[in-house]
Amino acid sequence: MLVLLDRDGVINEDRADFVKSPDELVFIPKSLEAIARLNSFGHKVVVVTNQSCIGRGIITEGQLEVIHGKLQDALRRVSGRLDDIIFAPDAPWEATDRRKPAPGMLIEAMRKFTGAPQDTAFIGDSARDMEAARAVDCHRILVQTGKGRKTQAKGLEKRLLPVHIAKDLSEAVEYVLEGRF
Ligand SMILES: [Mg+2]
Repeated sequence: MLVLLDRDGVINEDRADFVKSPDELVFIPKSLEAIARLNSFGHKVVVVTNQSCIGRGIITEGQLEVIHGKLQDALRRVSGRLDDIIFAPDAPWEATDRRKPAPGMLIEAMRKFTGAPQDTAFIGDSARDMEAARAVDCHRILVQTGKGRKTQAKGLEKRLLPVHIAKDLSEAVEYVLEGRF
């Protein structure tokens, strides 16, 4: 299966003022191990993340690379890895079709890893994640970490359903591994 992951609020704690340095990348408990578990079962794992902090001029692509270096290093320590990290640097006011809720990055990942919609799952914490996933018609899981609880409380539009709700990435991964779709 191809498993697409949002980053902020799913793998690491979401910050309203953006993750601007490796120090601000704080992992949600068990998220790295959950990725390693997907790897060990042969699933492809790709991060698909909006990083408007680049388009807003808050950090550079080089700084984002350093932050992702920390993520990859931390994963390596638990024998995990990401097959790819795809990001949209767009500021909201100049959003392209890559910035979620548009599905550009998801389409890119599904092409690269030949993931058919029924063999692809997206795990995210916001409505715009579910929207992007709905646009490509893949399986959708909303985690309650990050913005997840707020997203759930607000209620997801009917057209985005079905969306499976999981406590966190670890629980979402178990759902994927059980083949519950
Ligand atoms: Mg998020």
